[in-house]
Formats: sequence, structure tokens, C-alpha cells
Amino acid sequence: MDDCHDALHELYQYIDGELTEGRRADITSHLNACGECFEAFDFQAELRQVVAHKCRDEVPEALKARVAHLIEGEA
Ligand SMILES: [Zn+2]
Repeated sequence: MDDCHDALHELYQYIDGELTEGRRADITSHLNACGECFEAFDFQAELRQVVAHKCRDEVPEALKARVAHLIEGEA
């Protein structure tokens, strides 16, 4: 069905919250009705979260390295 093509095509914007409320509602109802698209959405959403967490974890490491570098420079 064409709905699946549309839903998958806009999945990234949907996850990023870049769609209008009308489009969001359309895709939400499609995901509720279509197991295949919901699985794709679920996977992408989880992937996004993993990436987001990974990025967050890397910030303190980068900061630590910068601080260590600054301290080294002063010593
Ligand atoms: Zn579908």
C-alpha cells in the first residue's frame, strides 16, 4: 500500500519531530495499524536513542581530555 511508502519515507522526520501535526497524526495512525511499519519505526527510534546516548557519553570524555590538556599546558 502507498501508506507504507509514505510512512517509511517520512520516518526520520517523524522521529525527529519535523512533521506537521497533520502528517504526524497520519503516520501515527498508520504505525498503529501496520505492524511492518511499526517495527521499522521501533528499530529506527531505538537506533536514534543508542546514537544519542553514545554522543552524550562522549562529551565528558572529550571534556576530560581538554581539561587534562589544559592542566598539562599549565604545569
Ligand atoms: Zn505500513
